[in-house]
Amino acid sequence: MGAFITVDIGGTQIRAAAYPESGTQALAVRKTSTRAGHEKAFDRLVELIRSVFPRDGNVLSITVATPGPVDPQAGVIASAPNIPGWDNYPLRDKLEAAFHVPTHLGNDANLAALGEWRFGAAQGHAHLLYLTISTGIGGGVIVDNRLLLGARGLAAELGHLTVLPDGPVCSCGQRGHLEAVAAGPAIAAFVRDQLALGAVSSLGGASDLSARAVGQAAKQGDPLALRALARSGEYIGMALADFLAVFNPSIVIFGGGVSFSGELLLAPVRRSLGLRVMDQAYLEGLVITTAALGDNSGLLGGLALAHTLQPQVSA
Ligand SMILES: [Zn+2]
Repeated sequence: MGAFITVDIGGTQIRAAAYPESGTQALAVRKTSTRAGHEKAFDRLVELIRSVFPRDGNVLSITVATPGPVDPQAGVIASAPNIPGWDNYPLRDKLEAAFHVPTHLGNDANLAALGEWRFGAAQGHAHLLYLTISTGIGGGVIVDNRLLLGARGLAAELGHLTVLPDGPVCSCGQRGHLEAVAAGPAIAAFVRDQLALGAVSSLGGASDLSARAVGQAAKQGDPLALRALARSGEYIGMALADFLAVFNPSIVIFGGGVSFSGELLLAPVRRSLGLRVMDQAYLEGLVITTAALGDNSGLLGGLALAHTLQPQVSA
C-alpha cells in the first residue's frame, strides 16, 4: 500500500506526516524548527521527510504547504518569509531529485481551504472562502469544487485588499491592506495605542502584549480587548462584503490564531458585513464558521491536494 507524505512549513516549525492511501489518520508525524543551527533548511527538510518515510519506501507523492507566494505549476517558492535564501527557490525539483517521488507545492492558506473542503467544515460545499487570521491574513478560494490558483498560482491573497487607503504599511509594503489593519499585530497595536491614550484595561501592565493576550482578555470581558476585536471584525466584514460580491461562496471559514476568539470576532464581522453587503441575497443560507482542522490544516490540506491529484484514491 502506498503512502502520501505531506509537509507544512510554518513560521516556527516544519512538520511532516505520512498518511495511508485512504483516511486521514497519520502513520507518523515529526517536526523540526524552521530555523535551527547551521544546517541548511533544505537539508533539515530532507532529513525530516526521511524520518516519516515508510519502511517499504512506497510513497505516492510528497506535498509541501508553504507560507507566502508560491508558483505551484513551476514548483517554485517565490519567497519564504522565515527561510533566508529561499527566493525563487525550485523546491519541487530539488525534492524530486532527492526522493524520486512526484512532489507538489501549495500556498498554506490555499491548501488549508482545500483541507476544509475535503475533510473539514466545508464538506459538501462547492463554493468556499477561507480566511486565516494570525500574524498575517491568508486566503483560499474554491469555486465550483476547484481551488482558484490564477495564472501564476498567486490568486486569493485575500489579506492584501485595500480597506484604508492611507492606513498603516502592510507586510507586503503597500498601505492600508486588510492584513495591516486587522491581523494579530494590528489588534495588539490598537490596544497599545489606546493604553497610551489612557484607556483602562486589564492589559495595562502586560509586558508582552500579543494578539493572543488580547483574545484572552476579551474572553474575560475586558472592554478594550473587546473593542480591539470588534475593530478588526469591522474591517474583515468590510472586505468580506467585497469577497461575497466577487465569489458568492456558500460558506466562509475563519482559521488562524485570531479566529480562536470565535464569536467575539465573528459577531462584529457579521454586523459589518450586514451593513455593507451589496444585496441580502448573498447572505441567504451563507454559513460563517471557524475552521475544523486546526493545527493540522497544512498537513491535511496537503493530503487533500494529493487525493485530488490522485483521483482513484478515496478519503
Ligand atoms: Zn499587503
